[in-house]
Amino acid sequence: MARGKKIYEGKAKDLFEGPEPGTIIQYFKDDATAFNAEKRDVIDGKGVLNNRLSEYFMVGLGQIGVPTHFLKRLNMREQLVRACEIIPLEVIVRNYAAGSLAKRLGLEEGTQLPRPIVEYSYKDDSLGDPLVTEEYIAAFGWASQQDMDDILSIALRVNDFLAGVMYGVGIKLIDFKIEIGRVYEGDFQRLVVADEISPDSCRLWDIESGQKLDKDVFRRDLGNLTDAYSEVARRLGVLPKNATPMQKPTLIN
Ligand code: 5GP
Repeated sequence: MARGKKIYEGKAKDLFEGPEPGTIIQYFKDDATAFNAEKRDVIDGKGVLNNRLSEYFMVGLGQIGVPTHFLKRLNMREQLVRACEIIPLEVIVRNYAAGSLAKRLGLEEGTQLPRPIVEYSYKDDSLGDPLVTEEYIAAFGWASQQDMDDILSIALRVNDFLAGVMYGVGIKLIDFKIEIGRVYEGDFQRLVVADEISPDSCRLWDIESGQKLDKDVFRRDLGNLTDAYSEVARRLGVLPKNATPMQKPTLIN
């Protein structure tokens, strides 16, 4: 499918105009960044895995009635999505303490939270995506009260879905981040899950061993990121068991 002109260059994805008005092509790159892009690398095969995994989660959400921007996967690295206006918030859902929450409250990573906690960060790399309250969101007009009610409900439904799917393959969903977009249909707007859902934006721990199978492997130098993401994809049946498409050819001299 012919790509139009590039409309956005992100850290892990580029966006191009799609073939029809109101569509966008998301191109998944191999670039990995962390700590507000202070740490960066290129990880062979990451984009291919995230394209597949995000497709898997978005399609599953659609099947249980949670609207998403996903239309179809086009090839190894590209997917066609609906154009939407991204609400400038990172919506984070946490089931166990980890990362910034563990640090903020002095909790041991892995402590189960009394109930899922939903929190919001203002999407601005130059500020390091600061945590914000609903007061900020209302005062600055980033989202209406009706939007916030819908966002909370979507976030919790995504959490139940992802946590269940992961539990089924022996993985604990520690936390995740989603982005929400507005799609306009005539005079109406609808909120959809946008961007991507992948091990780049979730924390996933093996239930038995506690092994990390997410971007913390890169953030904390814990091993090979592609191996971790491939393991998630393999367990979910997204990649055939014996597929090794991510490995570089071995050079024989
Ligand atoms: P934390 O606030 O603990 O750093 O992150 C909470 C969860 O949200 C983690 O699963 C993390 O991967 C995800 N997350 C937070 N901010 C970002 C971001 O800017 N990009 C991505 N890909 N994920 C994020």
